[in-house]
Amino acid sequence: MAMRQFKAESKKLLDLMINSIYTNKEIFLRELISNASDACDKRYFKSLTDTSIGIRKEDLKIHIQPDKENRTLTISDNGIGMTKEELEKNLGTIAKSGSQDFKQENQSDNIDIIGQFGVGFYSAFMVASKVTVLSKAQGSDEAWCWESKGVEGYTLTEAEKEDVGTEITIVMKEDAENEDYSHFLEEYTIADLVKKYSDYIRYPITMERTKSRQKPKPEDAGDDYKPEYETYQETETLNSMVPIWKRDKKEVKEEDYNEFYKTKFSDYTDPLRVITSRTEGTATYTALLFVPGRTPYDYYTKEYEKGLALYASGVLIMEKCADLLPDYFSFIKGVVDSEDLSLNISRETLQKDSQLRLMRNSLEKKIKNELHAMLTNDREKYETFWKSFGRQIKFGVYGDYGMHKDLLADLLMFFSAKEQKYVTLDEYIEKMPEDQKCIYFAAGDEAARLSKLPNAQLVLSKGYDLLLCTEDVDEFCLQIMHDYKEKEFKNINSGDLGLETEEEKKAAEEATEENKDLFEEIKKALNGKVKEVKVNPTLQDHPVSLSSEGGLSMEMEKVLRRMPNNAEGMESTKVLELNPNHSVFAALKAAKEAGDSDKISKYAELLYDQALLIEGLPLEDPVAYSQLVCELMK
Ligand code: ADP
Ligand code: MG
Repeated sequence: MAMRQFKAESKKLLDLMINSIYTNKEIFLRELISNASDACDKRYFKSLTDTSIGIRKEDLKIHIQPDKENRTLTISDNGIGMTKEELEKNLGTIAKSGSQDFKQENQSDNIDIIGQFGVGFYSAFMVASKVTVLSKAQGSDEAWCWESKGVEGYTLTEAEKEDVGTEITIVMKEDAENEDYSHFLEEYTIADLVKKYSDYIRYPITMERTKSRQKPKPEDAGDDYKPEYETYQETETLNSMVPIWKRDKKEVKEEDYNEFYKTKFSDYTDPLRVITSRTEGTATYTALLFVPGRTPYDYYTKEYEKGLALYASGVLIMEKCADLLPDYFSFIKGVVDSEDLSLNISRETLQKDSQLRLMRNSLEKKIKNELHAMLTNDREKYETFWKSFGRQIKFGVYGDYGMHKDLLADLLMFFSAKEQKYVTLDEYIEKMPEDQKCIYFAAGDEAARLSKLPNAQLVLSKGYDLLLCTEDVDEFCLQIMHDYKEKEFKNINSGDLGLETEEEKKAAEEATEENKDLFEEIKKALNGKVKEVKVNPTLQDHPVSLSSEGGLSMEMEKVLRRMPNNAEGMESTKVLELNPNHSVFAALKAAKEAGDSDKISKYAELLYDQALLIEGLPLEDPVAYSQLVCELMK
């Protein structure tokens, strides 16, 4: 019989499992039970549309059978089963979504991967020296047996099995120093593990338990009769089968919710917040939602699939129902169970279902309120949340032409230059001095550089706070909002900040007028790079600065340039501002008086390049800039 090879990725993971020093090996049972339960779900769901299957929900079950003598543990289910091809595909290849991450991280910390991804079926190899999977698929006459002792590969042989379903037999590893595998064969250990990890599974998980009872007293027993005991076997259901979301909230401990979350959604971090919701009326449903404690590795990629598990009266009808969540809350995980949905509803009709739309709207409100409650009552957690998913909320404000900005605006947070921490827009407004009209922000890559910009210093010197927007989406988000509670957002590089005094303004206008010819010459020397050259009296000790006019800022230009196939002509309109009180300005004037056009043109280039550097924009020609500096030093 030919040995088949595992796919490369699977082999690595398998190897990891076999040699695992992970202390939490007991999770293998949870993984196998969860697979069995999924298989039951699938078979039941199929039976709803295919009456020939003729199985009732009550018929489906999972059975566990330890055998201490032979050191085996068998987990069987009468779920959907697997064909030969499915055995090959599902168990020969790791289908886990975590495989991507696995590739990157397997060098660093092996233990983490196990906790991180739940790792499914292969976790059996943490405790097994051999795994046998005997399966008969729904609708097939054949049964097949998959068997593997580890990385060398696996075999597939035709086998005998009467009923549809899967039977997985694990041969336990021998005990070793510090490693007690035998206890996984003890009835009480198994019962405990089922209670701990799989209590909510909606199919009975049964096991034959050895019990002891007193033998009936013989009729002819004398006065000196001593009671005798005998052992007997009794099938016991180990789990309570009530889905956790159906249980009374008061009875469920936080750990139970957390454990459920981690098992169901293959995460190793506790959720930041558990959201429970039970509604009656227009949309009748029970929801149990979670805000994850960290960003899923693929969250900001196309691969990430949003959605909530959708149940109709306790039966899973869709693993990831995307229509229940708006994109800006796509990070939410959870289950929704509704009695209003028909069981054999198809995907297509579901999309149009008005019930689903009602649920979606009501969930959206609920999630929003819970996030806001977290912001108010649990700031630390909210900031963790914000670091993981804030970007998505900002995209939500910007997306759909700003349609959702009112819903999301009070969830926003930005880094405050003055307070050196994250603040909400409400907090910003609350602390605004009376004479402050706008909400000021600076956009760019590094917070440290932004707060040193000439205009940033100016804003801060007035006692105003400044939001440091370091993410690509920030400025787009603020621009589409335009204002918050009637306070306009103002980019500190947008030219007119309205911060000069009347005198300064007048003096600047005069100086601009006075030096018209000089500015014209500078503008010409810069050959279309700036639209205008003018005086800015508020530059303090900076000689020069660039500002932009119109809707497109320099930072936005930078973001758009980075995008693939960016539209032509997406350029900001730049204005070169000179400080009339700086010695450099005097030097320019002197050159003009001496009629030294060559010098003016060189100074203009130099100042423009310096302004670009301050803004964190790339120089068009760094070599030319460097040569120019050297020339002037001679
Ligand atoms: P996951 O459950 O996340 O898909 P697993 O590694 O746990 O990953 O399982 C791999 C696949 O093997 C499952 O998706 C399923 O198709 C199949 N499988 C595992 N156990 C069973 C079972 N008891 N009955 C039917 N199919 C199963
Ligand atoms: Mg699984």
